Amino acid sequence: MSDNCLFCKIINGDIPADIVEQTATTLAFCDINPQAKTHVLIIPKVHIESTRDLNDENIHCLSEMAEMANKIAKSEGISESGYRWVINTGDDGGQTVHHLHLHLLGGRQLQWPPG
Ligand code: AMP
Ligand code: ZN
Repeated sequence: MSDNCLFCKIINGDIPADIVEQTATTLAFCDINPQAKTHVLIIPKVHIESTRDLNDENIHCLSEMAEMANKIAKSEGISESGYRWVINTGDDGGQTVHHLHLHLLGGRQLQWPPG
């Protein structure tokens, strides 16, 4: 838990969120400003700032996030039509919340390359 972290506050229930799925280690909730019909954020329940902070001890968080993303893609009905996983890191990556999160986007044709 990091005191000033928005997503840690969501994990603790201090800030409301539209929760999609959770396990002991991982939480998924709807993005407050959705960029596609499905836009879910999947986060570890421990505070990891970004992909830069993944290491041998916490790398399992990423596979748990991936597993949950796959499960949600199926329940949202976008597994077959396709979807995109996005993890933004740092300023150039466009990261605005400094708690690792995977964006699951789908339900429309997504463009490439990103802006
Ligand atoms: P990023 O720019 O990759 O750091 O993504 C941060 C995401 O968090 C953005 O897509 C925001 O819309 C989303 N976001 C910010 N505040 C909240 C909130 N309170 N509940 C849900 N999503 C949020
Ligand atoms: Zn946090």
